[in-house]
Amino acid sequence: MTDSFCNVALPVPLRTTFTYGVPEATRGQLQAGSRVLVPFRKKTLVGVVVEMTSAAPEGTQIREISKVLDLVPALSPKLIELGQWIAGYYLAPVGEVFRAMLPPVTEIALKRQVVLTEAGKTFAKQWKEGSALTDLSGAEAEFLWKVLEKKGELAIGPGSKLGTTPESLQRLQRRGYLEIREIVQGRKRKTQKVVAWKSANAAAEELGEKEKRIRELLQTERGPLPLPQLLKLAKISRALIERMLRDGLLESWEESIDPAEDPFDSGYELPGHTLNETQERAFNAIRARFELGEFGVQLLHGVTGSGKTEVYLRSVQDTLARGKTALVLVPEIALTLWIGRQCRAWFGARFEGVAVLHSALSDVERAREWWRVRNGQARVVVGTRSAVFAPLENLGLVIVDEEQEGSYKQEETPRYHGRDVAIVRAKLENAAALLGSATPSLETYHNAANGKYELLTMAARVENRSLAAVEIVDLRQDFQQTHKTSPISKVLHDAIAECLSFQTQALVLINRRGYSWSVLCRSCGASVQCANCSISMTYHKSRNRLECHYCGSIQMVPKVCPKCDSKYVYFFGEGSEHLEELLRKEFPGARIARLDRDTARTKRQYQETLGAFAGGALDILVGTQMLAKGHDFQRVTLVGVVSADSSLSLPDFRAAERTFQLLTQVAGRAGRGDLPGRVLIQTYYPEHYAIQDAVRQDYLAFYERELHFRRMMAYPPFTSLANVIVRDAKLENAIRWSRRLSEYFSPQDGKGVRILGPASAPLARLKKEHRYQFLLKSPKRSVLTKLLSGAMAFCEKEEIPQTAVVVDMDPLSLM
Ligand code: ADP
Ligand code: ZN
Ligand code: ZN
Repeated sequence: MTDSFCNVALPVPLRTTFTYGVPEATRGQLQAGSRVLVPFRKKTLVGVVVEMTSAAPEGTQIREISKVLDLVPALSPKLIELGQWIAGYYLAPVGEVFRAMLPPVTEIALKRQVVLTEAGKTFAKQWKEGSALTDLSGAEAEFLWKVLEKKGELAIGPGSKLGTTPESLQRLQRRGYLEIREIVQGRKRKTQKVVAWKSANAAAEELGEKEKRIRELLQTERGPLPLPQLLKLAKISRALIERMLRDGLLESWEESIDPAEDPFDSGYELPGHTLNETQERAFNAIRARFELGEFGVQLLHGVTGSGKTEVYLRSVQDTLARGKTALVLVPEIALTLWIGRQCRAWFGARFEGVAVLHSALSDVERAREWWRVRNGQARVVVGTRSAVFAPLENLGLVIVDEEQEGSYKQEETPRYHGRDVAIVRAKLENAAALLGSATPSLETYHNAANGKYELLTMAARVENRSLAAVEIVDLRQDFQQTHKTSPISKVLHDAIAECLSFQTQALVLINRRGYSWSVLCRSCGASVQCANCSISMTYHKSRNRLECHYCGSIQMVPKVCPKCDSKYVYFFGEGSEHLEELLRKEFPGARIARLDRDTARTKRQYQETLGAFAGGALDILVGTQMLAKGHDFQRVTLVGVVSADSSLSLPDFRAAERTFQLLTQVAGRAGRGDLPGRVLIQTYYPEHYAIQDAVRQDYLAFYERELHFRRMMAYPPFTSLANVIVRDAKLENAIRWSRRLSEYFSPQDGKGVRILGPASAPLARLKKEHRYQFLLKSPKRSVLTKLLSGAMAFCEKEEIPQTAVVVDMDPLSLM
């Protein structure tokens, strides 16, 4: 029986799916996981079929699907299950969850093709010779033969005749005789023109409307874009771009479309180490887990430089050899470069390939990579957070490198945690999950300590290299000696000079980007705030403007105080741009570059800077957190941390953990080659235990102390948290709705759950919306889930808009 209705998830901020009728002609062809075009209100939207059903809800008028977009469902049944789990667990709008799982919708055309497998070819030949025993119909076997005659490939499309029924096609596919592939068209072109904003000093007032729009797109909203995409997004003519290129406002270059032809790979040779004893032991435990062939989580706790990557690569290799696929998640785009390259060098030729997925790819590149995975052309995926949804089938292993990283948490809807979703995905697919870190999160290490996860330890660096020597620079003393407050203390300055004289390299880290993170008035004390958020604006010198790092809005640099008109406006608090400028001043001969989200927007920009540093073409690299973890630079002998304690002062129970992790990771970047390393940590609170334990690089000491604190304060891992934000552009709405919601929550307080709030959120205003907050704490997560789904129903009854209530389950930040 074929189902005549289906439930479709649509990219709208609502927590329900919508039922549509399946037109006669497409019945039997449509499957769950396929994307469809449907009418919704007055628009047409792309949705994904979540399930087929024979019944429709009564009393509503059911509209029909306008078009089926995929013959091969874009999402596998396991991914649909995963999406539904996310929608349920994180109380996220189901359509937004699936939107995050799907490839970007681009203008690239997909071509469908039937391709015979080896089994299909053999069968077709045998059938023609009359020697095949089968229950297939004659027409089906005949169809296989017909495809074989056409060299084993047949294009199918809306226009072309199929020559068989969709049901038959699916039966043949299930038998493994053929594959249906969706191929991205336009392969002839090998490169694409990418356009970036160039001019740093073009004053805003000289630019026309269209030019401003282009600058917004290329500088703030999206970063460099492929030309066709830019033309479309900015709705401009090609002639305008050509003119701006000639005028030097824009720059452009050709970028290879096919990631397999990445120039970054050429000349790269794998180190090809044999595993040492410790690595071998860890790898054997991972293999033993594969032998069991069932879900399980292992934590690879290895100090920085213990050679975890090598263990990952072997584990991936073993997984492929077992005919399964593997997913490797890393916390930063920059890390996909190294691990991606190593994977391509290991697996690219022998197996069908490696795909890399992250947000610095253009939509076209991302769509291409996504379909390569979906078609089985890539069996290893390396990527950042959202790659957890990579459409791999037959998944055998999921690796989450640096599992403690906050970047795995998505801070907008759907607010999922990539590591936790990776574990759930492994469980659904009966695969192994391997979490790796030198500084595991408290939650993860606690799970390992109580036996929920298997703990594998690598306690020493490879080849008995010593951990870098970590020294504290007490900034109070520095001030007493120098009577200056510079982000570069005397000790750090001297250490960099020494580094330069020995011709080794230095990494200098600062936790904020921009030039100054506050603009203050000396007369009235006011700071320049974002018009949309309760946060101060960051000054960007090269762009000559103030930017809000939360909503992206910009302001002109004020010449007088916006409040009191005083001329005494000053800039306060150094960011990476300022630090770079200071270093250039203090070390005029040195080769210096900066890496942060302002200087690196595309893969190419990352590759250039990191490649130059790794290749020795730079002496000093300045950067934000993105440089702190994972990188393996062999000639770095000095790492300086400009302000270690700025993260400690945040009103957040994870502040100490974050500081400890960051410092330990940073310390891990020094002394990785044959040269010993030195790490300088500048701080005003040298006594703080997070800093002291990081100096000793003593994870267990920190873990015990912090765990004690968490137990006392009833924080994770001893309780589960949910943060509920009520928000609206109108203050009275935000207040009214949070009071109303409090009528639902209050009676529940004390019944297995503690409910705090409503209170004004620390970020009281964000993106023009006023925000109130409830914090829910319970030792049992199921209690929270139940309470929250009740709250959602309550909101619906009370007509509180769904978009006004944001649930953040297992929040990382309580801002
Ligand atoms: P981690 O991720 O644990 O910090 P990496 O995997 O980056 O460490 O490895 C650190 C360095 O040690 C790399 O340069 C790597 O090539 C090297 N390495 C890994 N395994 C071995 C080994 N068995 N013998 C020698 N060097 C190794
Ligand atoms: Zn003022
Ligand atoms: Zn803002």
